[in-house]
Amino acid sequence: GENIVVSELAKLMGVKATELIKKLMLMGVMASVNQAIDADTAVLLGGEYGIEVKVKFLTEDDLIPVHDDKEEELTSRPPIVTVMGHVDHGKTSLLDRIRQTAVAEGEAGGITQHIGAYEVKMEKGTITFLDTPGHEAFTTLRARGASVTDVVILVVAADDGVMPQTKEAIDHAKAAGVKLIVAINKIDKENANPDMVRNQLAEHGVISEDWGGDYQFQEISAKANLHIEDLLERVLLEAELLELKGNPTALAEGIVIESKLDKQKGAVATVLINRGTLNKGDNFVVGTEFGKVRAMFNYKGASIKEAGLSVPVEIMGFSGVPQSGDRFVVTPDEKTARQVADLRSDEARKKNFAEKSAVSLADLFNKI
Ligand code: GDP
Ligand code: MG
Repeated sequence: GENIVVSELAKLMGVKATELIKKLMLMGVMASVNQAIDADTAVLLGGEYGIEVKVKFLTEDDLIPVHDDKEEELTSRPPIVTVMGHVDHGKTSLLDRIRQTAVAEGEAGGITQHIGAYEVKMEKGTITFLDTPGHEAFTTLRARGASVTDVVILVVAADDGVMPQTKEAIDHAKAAGVKLIVAINKIDKENANPDMVRNQLAEHGVISEDWGGDYQFQEISAKANLHIEDLLERVLLEAELLELKGNPTALAEGIVIESKLDKQKGAVATVLINRGTLNKGDNFVVGTEFGKVRAMFNYKGASIKEAGLSVPVEIMGFSGVPQSGDRFVVTPDEKTARQVADLRSDEARKKNFAEKSAVSLADLFNKI
């Protein structure tokens, strides 16, 4: 901030606070020990004692300690997958099918609560799926500078082939440097033609491994439940090649993938953890909001006490509703969380003010 509390300044100057208050009074400034004075006054006050007061505005970097993860701190983490493809090619059917597989593992009740992402635990590893089919999750999050996807499953219907949104998905994935896996869907259909799909995709530079390219292809049927596990195993294989890693011991960080105001829970958001481990009670800042993790829930709606790397988790305890795409960062304490949020609110206000001033100035010139 741009102010300093009298007692803090007194400590820094090595002068008694009561002494400073007297001096301030002589300068025409009425302030008590716990009140803040502005930077200019602090500089003048320092001058009275022959002390040079330097004003340094705190930035986020001062408040949130930067920690570069060391190689030995890293462990492998589950891949985060988005399903993309042309409308009606079977994205939703595939996501539903995989979710069923995930829940079927001896759990009654299924998923009572939808949080925008879910985990699939298999013998060979875990996969996190973003539950928003199509381009929304991927493109809106990316437009906001957040990258949450490691692997894109490109669904192409075997009876329809490459369509405009198929090409779009290829372009998005390439631009983002995200690995593609092709799921040729609807192979149960009589008029299915997987080789036509292979040919068309090859024309767009997506050549399957069995044709000498470096893309994994899997023929599936979401509807007839064919080869879904094979597809999931390919995802895990791809993840292994990508050597996805993270530091599980750091203060947690993540990306908001959805948020809302819940009647019972207040402001809640689903966050995908991509660094550290989030614990109940952790203080955090996200955009211009801050808070403390009061409760968290996994994708099944069960209350959990901690969430690790690549885990999607619904969090309660925000000062207000954050925006999807916002970066969620755990701070060492509550004060820091507030300070960073305040700093950002100040910035936003200043920016807003500058924009408004620019507009009114323009109006003025127009009138002249
Ligand atoms: P989305 O628009 O990509 O999400 O596509 P949907 O999952 O909504 O599927 C569109 C239609 O294709 C629906 O009528 C599905 O039942 C059907 N469909 C999806 N997968 C398959 C499949 O593997 N085989 C067949 N025959 N139909 C499928
Ligand atoms: Mg759909």
